[in-house]
Amino acid sequence: MVESMSDTPPKTRTLSFKAETQQLLNILIHSLYTEREVFLRELISNAADALTRMHFILLTDRDVLDPEVELTITIIPEPEKRILRIIDTGVGMTADEMIKNLGTIAHSGARAFIQTLKESNANPNDIIGQFGVGFYSAFMVAERVEVISRSYKPQASSARWISTGHETFSIEPCEKINRGTEVILYLKEDAVEFTQEMRLRQIIKKHSEYIPYPIYLGEDKEPINRQSALWRQSPQQVKREDYEAFYKQFTLDFHSPLFHLHLIIDAPVQVYALLYIPASPERGPLSARNEEGLKLYARKVLIQEFNRDLLPSFFRFVDGVVDSEDLPLNVSRESVQATRILAQLKRVLTNKLIEALKNWAKEKPDQYAIFWQRFGRFIREGIASDEEYGQLLAPLLRFPTLFKPDQWLALEDYILTMPARQKKIYYLLSDSLSSALNSPHLEIYRRHRYDVLLMTDPLDPFMMLRLKKYQNFELANAASEELPPLDTPSEEQDRDLSLLSEEEQNRLIARFKSILAEKVADVRLTQRLSESPARLALPQDSPSQEIQRVYRLLQSDFSFPKPILEINPHHPLIRNLSTLPDEDPLLRLGIEQIFESALLLEGLLANPGEMVKRTEEILLYALRSKSAQE
Ligand code: ADP
Repeated sequence: MVESMSDTPPKTRTLSFKAETQQLLNILIHSLYTEREVFLRELISNAADALTRMHFILLTDRDVLDPEVELTITIIPEPEKRILRIIDTGVGMTADEMIKNLGTIAHSGARAFIQTLKESNANPNDIIGQFGVGFYSAFMVAERVEVISRSYKPQASSARWISTGHETFSIEPCEKINRGTEVILYLKEDAVEFTQEMRLRQIIKKHSEYIPYPIYLGEDKEPINRQSALWRQSPQQVKREDYEAFYKQFTLDFHSPLFHLHLIIDAPVQVYALLYIPASPERGPLSARNEEGLKLYARKVLIQEFNRDLLPSFFRFVDGVVDSEDLPLNVSRESVQATRILAQLKRVLTNKLIEALKNWAKEKPDQYAIFWQRFGRFIREGIASDEEYGQLLAPLLRFPTLFKPDQWLALEDYILTMPARQKKIYYLLSDSLSSALNSPHLEIYRRHRYDVLLMTDPLDPFMMLRLKKYQNFELANAASEELPPLDTPSEEQDRDLSLLSEEEQNRLIARFKSILAEKVADVRLTQRLSESPARLALPQDSPSQEIQRVYRLLQSDFSFPKPILEINPHHPLIRNLSTLPDEDPLLRLGIEQIFESALLLEGLLANPGEMVKRTEEILLYALRSKSAQE
C-alpha cells in the first residue's frame, strides 16, 4: 500500500488497494451477475462474525466500550438518498485495522474466485455465484462505500474508510460514539431495489434467516430473522427444508447435507443437538466451518465455535450444534464438572449417532451407500483406533463380496446367507476389486459356496487387526484359512484320477525350487486351486497378511518375508511344465512367469518391466511354433 504524496488534508490518508484487490473490484464494479443480492448476505455475515467475536470477548472481559449494548444488526434503507446502511454492535475496527482488513483480500472466497478466473476463461458473471466474495461484493451494487467503525477497545478512536472501488481508498478520523461498524452503501442507479423494505426482507429471509443475532429492518422493533435456536424446536415442527436451510446458512456449503439428526434428550444429561453429515468429507475453502468440531452452547449462550470433545475423532466430519442446559456457563474455563458433563454428552451423542446411522442404513440403503463410499474410511479408522466406540461401528460396515461384487453387503446380511456348515466370516484383503475377484485364494470358496468379503481399502488391514469377531462369528482371512475337503468330493475325485505320479510331482517341485531359488521359502503342491496354476501362501512363522500390509503402508521400503508358492498339479500349464525337457528355455520362462503372476495378483510385484519383457519372449515362442506348424 503506497501512501499518496498529494496535498490531502492532514488527517485524511489515501492509500492504494493491492493489485489483486483492484482486479477483484474491477470485476465487481462491472458485474452483470444477476444475483447481486448476495452482497447483503456477505455484509450481514461479516457483521455476525464481528458480533460473535464480541460475544467471546465479553465472556471474560467486561472492560470494553458499551459492555451492556445488545448484540444486533440493523439495516436502514433511505430510498430518497439511494442509501443502505448495515450497522452492527460488534468488535468494530480501528483505523489501522480497516487499512489492513479492507485494503487486501482477506476473504478466502474472493481469493478462490480470482484464482479460478486466472485458471479458466470463464465469464466472471457465470461463476461468481459459487464464491462468496466477502466485503467487496458491496461494489456490485454501490458506487461508493463508507465504513465507519469504532473498536471495542476503550482507548481506540473511531475512523471512516471511503472508496469508490477504483484504485484507492481513503481513511480519516470521524466521530462515532457507539461500539461497532456501520457500512454505508451509496447505491448505483440500477440498484434502488435494495432500498425497498419488501425486497430487503425477502433477501434477509432467504439468506440470513438463521444468523444467531437479531436483524432489525428500519424502525421495526421486531427482528425479521428467526435467529431461532432451530435445535430447540420440536422435530415434528421443523420441516426438512428448514433443516437444510439452517445447514446451508450455518456452513455456507452449497450442497445439501446427506443426513441430519435432531436430538432432544433429558437424561442422563439434558441436550439439544442438531448434527449433520455434509455431502463431502472435504471442507471446501469457502466453508464457514473450516475447522472440525461442533458449535457448543450452554443454555443458549455460545461457548465455543469448534468443540472437538463432543464426538470421537473418527466422527470429525460431522458438523452441527450442541446446546445443553446442564453445562455451566463458565465451561470455557474447563471446570472439572464441565468436563464430566462433556464426557457424558459425548457418550450420549456418539451412541445416538451410531444408532441413527444404523437405522438410516436400513431404511435408505441407497443413500447410505453414498455415505459409505464417501465416509467409510472414517468408520474403518474408528474400528482400527478407537478403544471405546470402535466395536460399536461394525454394523455400519459395507463390503462387496465374491458373490455380490456390485453390492454393499452388511456383516449382518452376510451371516444370513451363510450355509449352515459355514462357521466363520471370510474376508480377502486386496488392492482392488478386480484383483480380488481374480484371486486364486477364492477358488476354493467358490466350490464351497462360501461368500467372501472383499476388502480393498488401505485402512482395511488396520481395521482387521482389531475386528476379530462379529456376533459370535470369527472373522478369518480367506487367504490364510484352510477349508476342509467337500463332503461330496466328486470334482476332487475326478481330479485325483489325473494326478501326476509321485516321481513327476517330485521332479516338478525340484524344478520350481531350483529356478526360483532364493525368491521363495518353499514350493509345494496344493489341492485347493481349480482355475489358477498357483497361489502364494505365508510361511507358518511369518507375520499375518494384515500386519504385512500395515507395515507396507507405513514404511515404503518394507520387504515382505519370502512366500511359499503353492502349485496346482491339475492345471495344464503346470502339467506341461513337468514334461518339458530340462534344457528347454520355456521351462525357466514359464516358472518365473507363474511366480510373478501370483505376485502380481497379490499386489506384490516389484518390477513389472521385467515381466513385460518375459511375456514378449513367451509370445514369440508361441508364434514361432505356430508358424512352424503351418
Ligand atoms: P472475511 O470476512 O472472509 O475475512 P471480508 O473481505 O468480507 O473477508 O472482510 C475482511 C475483514 O474485514 C474481516 O475479516 C474482518 O476482520 C473485517 N470486517 C469486515 N466487516 C466487519 C465488521 N462489520 N465488523 C468488524 N470487522 C469487519
